[in-house]
Amino acid sequence: MTDTFYSKLAKVRHYIHEHPEISEQEYEATKYIKNYLSELEIKPLDYPLETGVIAEIGSGLPIIALRADIDALPIVERTNLDYASSNGAMHACGHDFHQTSLLGAAEILKEREAELNGTVRLIFQPAEENFQGGYKVIEAGGLENVSAIIGYHNNPHLKPGQIGLRSGAIMAGVEQFKVIVNGVSAHAARPDLGVDTVLVITTIINNLQNIVSRTVSPFESAVLSVTHIDVGTTWNVLPANGYFEGTIRSFDPEVRLSVIERFEKVVKAVSQQFDARVEINWGNAPNVTFNDRDLTPIIFENSKKFAEVIETLPSTGGEDFAAYQEKIPGVFAFVGSNGEENAPDWHHDDFIVRDESLPVAVNYFVESAFALLNHFKKE
Ligand SMILES: [Zn+2]
Ligand SMILES: [Zn+2]
Repeated sequence: MTDTFYSKLAKVRHYIHEHPEISEQEYEATKYIKNYLSELEIKPLDYPLETGVIAEIGSGLPIIALRADIDALPIVERTNLDYASSNGAMHACGHDFHQTSLLGAAEILKEREAELNGTVRLIFQPAEENFQGGYKVIEAGGLENVSAIIGYHNNPHLKPGQIGLRSGAIMAGVEQFKVIVNGVSAHAARPDLGVDTVLVITTIINNLQNIVSRTVSPFESAVLSVTHIDVGTTWNVLPANGYFEGTIRSFDPEVRLSVIERFEKVVKAVSQQFDARVEINWGNAPNVTFNDRDLTPIIFENSKKFAEVIETLPSTGGEDFAAYQEKIPGVFAFVGSNGEENAPDWHHDDFIVRDESLPVAVNYFVESAFALLNHFKKE
């Protein structure tokens, strides 16, 4: 990457960083991307998206999609950067960096359009942080005719110049649950006349803790945490209602499904035992970000041309890129963005991505697109 191009992209990122918008409010970002692409003579495609942009470079099949998310978080920024945001939102997950690198990749791919063995579809995705954007893009038709999709997340635990990658799970499947229990209120001295909501809730929780330890293979992993219980108001009344909530994390789509199935079985069986009524609410949360086992080794090898590629451990965080991988094969990497020992993590108000990481991120998009177009062309 030339110095001029690097400085240009760093400026673009600083501008985007200074003007963050939260999920589903990315109106200015959408305009900014459309303008940027128009100047490159890349026309955004006409997809029914309220925010976010889809555009293409090249022509014909195969089509490889490159995806960057563009939303920010409702966090007050405390980085003291001279391009810090002051509007109450913050790019505390580094999606400003993702967006910039895809704009940079678009510029290079447009210059090299004649070399493309097919089409590159650029997906500037809205609403990653509330896990809605991936589904919105899919509903709008954004994956039509796409053979495979490439994405990444910046990772402050890796240095600029490094890429972390692995086949299979790279980010966790996340479940958010809330279980509402309805018993029958009674005097604390006459539990026989009621249905004891307190006992139902605690019994369910005890039984839930057997799921991971007794039904998940020791060679697989999952975590189930109950984090909040709300039941009762005083010492001498058995309450009628209560609830508990928490989360499940897993790294294999089959393990994930089996834990969810067991969870529902346990909750229903215990409530039946006590004649209580229960309702399970599953929140919006992403599936396992699961890297394709055929394509990941191709991207792993190919990325060695421009980065130090490291076999990484999965993150226990979730990522809505998983929505795409439920439909088509995809590869999701970590791009090193800080690497200092005490680097603040994602979603912290002093989170910082280093500009020096931009060239690897841009190259990752560009080179992965070429590699996969060539791979699918040969098939
Ligand atoms: Zn985030
Ligand atoms: Zn993020």
